[in-house]
Amino acid sequence: MPDTAVARLPPAVGWPASGTPLASRLAKLDLHRLDDLILHLPLRYEDETRLTPIAVARPGFPAQVEGEVLSCEVTLRPRRQLVARIADASGALVARWLNFYPSQQKQMATGRRVRLFGEVRGGFLGLEMVHPRVRPVEEAESLPDALTPVYPTTAGLGQAALRKLVERALNLVPLEEGLPANTLAELGLPGFAEAVRALHRPAPDADPAALENRDHPAWQRIKFEELLVQQLSLRRAYNARRAHVAVALAARRQLTQALLEGLPFGLTAAQARAQREIARDLAASHPMQRLLQGDVGSGKTIVAALAMLQAAENGWQAAMMAPTEILAEQHYRKLAGWLTPLGVEVAWLSGSRRKREREVVLARLQSGECLLAVGTHALIEDPVAMPRLALAVVDEQHRFGVRQRLALRDKGADGRRPHMLMMSATPIPRTLAMTHYADLDVSVLDELPPGRTPIRTRLVSDARRDEVIGRVREACLEGRQAYWVCPLIEESEALQLQTAVETYETLCAALPELRVGLIHGRLKTDEKAATMAAFAAGELQVLVATTVIEVGVDVPNASLMVIEHAERFGLAQLHQLRGRVGRGTAESVCILIFAQPLSETGRARLKVIYEHTDGFEIAREDLRIRGPGEFVGARQSGVPLLRYASLETDGDLIEPARALAERLLREDPAAVDRLMARWLGSREGLLRA
Ligand code: ADP
Ligand code: MG
Repeated sequence: MPDTAVARLPPAVGWPASGTPLASRLAKLDLHRLDDLILHLPLRYEDETRLTPIAVARPGFPAQVEGEVLSCEVTLRPRRQLVARIADASGALVARWLNFYPSQQKQMATGRRVRLFGEVRGGFLGLEMVHPRVRPVEEAESLPDALTPVYPTTAGLGQAALRKLVERALNLVPLEEGLPANTLAELGLPGFAEAVRALHRPAPDADPAALENRDHPAWQRIKFEELLVQQLSLRRAYNARRAHVAVALAARRQLTQALLEGLPFGLTAAQARAQREIARDLAASHPMQRLLQGDVGSGKTIVAALAMLQAAENGWQAAMMAPTEILAEQHYRKLAGWLTPLGVEVAWLSGSRRKREREVVLARLQSGECLLAVGTHALIEDPVAMPRLALAVVDEQHRFGVRQRLALRDKGADGRRPHMLMMSATPIPRTLAMTHYADLDVSVLDELPPGRTPIRTRLVSDARRDEVIGRVREACLEGRQAYWVCPLIEESEALQLQTAVETYETLCAALPELRVGLIHGRLKTDEKAATMAAFAAGELQVLVATTVIEVGVDVPNASLMVIEHAERFGLAQLHQLRGRVGRGTAESVCILIFAQPLSETGRARLKVIYEHTDGFEIAREDLRIRGPGEFVGARQSGVPLLRYASLETDGDLIEPARALAERLLREDPAAVDRLMARWLGSREGLLRA
């Protein structure tokens, strides 16, 4: 972890010795050296530059008043508290403390002059302040001439102490400019020193609103620099990985050509473009680090299969890893269906295969007789060895943790790293992609295979469930198939299971003429696989499911998707689920059953999914509704979190940050080092693998 690493560094000048209470409190705030204090910026500001006459203080607003203590006593009713009356020339107010120290009582001795800062309220006895901050003052003592910063802090470290520390850091640390002058001029940004001073000690005439909303030019400067550093560190990580050696896999076009010729369809232009990009990367002797992004149903699997064949053509191994057993098995079937006719063997590895079968498969991979493998994370678990592994494909990459991706990467043959192809069906808006995938090359499948009829989406209140059951009957009697997805019940997996079982029973009873199946997370893997296979083969017409079918499942004959309690699902999930239909030529329908009353966001989400079918647009709306924080699981992806910049409001700074990052990396590596040291210290290790 970065913290311990930093703790081992020699203390910087003027830094409290490690192990002291102060040092550990600072460490809690992730402050480890003077430089960190410079970038520990205020949350907000308080205006102590002015005194408000008590008579004109407005209830509900913070104010600073100054007056003489008329009385101060401990009362016991309604509960023990310290109550003081303070008066100035204009009026009087009551100050109250429910928790107080004897020292506070002394501070408020009758006749003393004090300044109180706090929110004024209209109380029972007239104006009052509860728990105001107090400062004893002399007659006519001067007021501060700048807004008072309020910092994020932690227990045991008061604002005053923190302010002093920051003040000292500002005096000790050289505030060197890290950005080229022409960039500052172009973007109209202030210099670094000017910006941090403006934020820590705002000028008396600074606009408090602009400071608080963080759209003050000083904030813009800091946010720009933060985004720049994010780009720099991601690009550096990219370059570092690129410096490794990988097996160069020439595009021999023997097997790939044969596969293309045998397919019942031609590649879309987007697939062909992605394939060219990947083929070119694979032919290089440094590892590919590419993300293949494409909406649900855009046909990523065939592109991955072609890449795997390029490895096989060269006599090297390739593995495809999927996040669930169902998906892994489906990929296996698809790949085997395409490749067995070409005489290429595909191995299937999952945690649940019987030991004997597993051993046979492992031996064939180990010996290199079998070149291609598909599996779940079982693939990266130890004894699985693919001594000639040259390409790793990771489907639904966001489902895997950093560690799992790392493990796969380290499986390369004799010190060489495998080429990595990540796949994702979670489209994300451009601004987010620029920050989250800045350390990858990206190929986008921006069109769907032809011949798909668009999916119609219906919103139906749960009072009309019977009608929906009728729709299911109709569709299935016409030879189609249907999914019925049960609600997510976050509080309880048991409850979720129960609902699925009940729904299954209801549907069996209501649709005696149809064969209904049930699939959920508690089933054993081979039971799940058998049910999925029966549905894929058309033996089951209706599949009642929990969200286990969310990702990747491909049964083209299914044309009806029913989602219960759709208001409980996230947008990305609804989009994924809806994408399970509309994969064949039949007109498909997605029925979203919702329960009243709808929450504000529930309604907003349903509106978005009703109005949009394009994954990128849905992602954009999603970002708007819930903000980027929880969007792609930033923590899990390992991308350094942004402290100040926000992808929502500062999207326009990202493009220039990226452009400058490229320029600095090319022209001024020393400047890059300085910027990264300033922002990250020794935290670079957080970067994504
Ligand atoms: P996803 O991108 O969601 O993983 P898949 O790879 O599962 O999509 O492909 C969805 C379906 O479209 C599959 O049945 C696949 O065989 C089919 N498909 C892929 N490419 C094409 C194409 N160019 N033309 C027609 N069908 C295609
Ligand atoms: Mg897929």
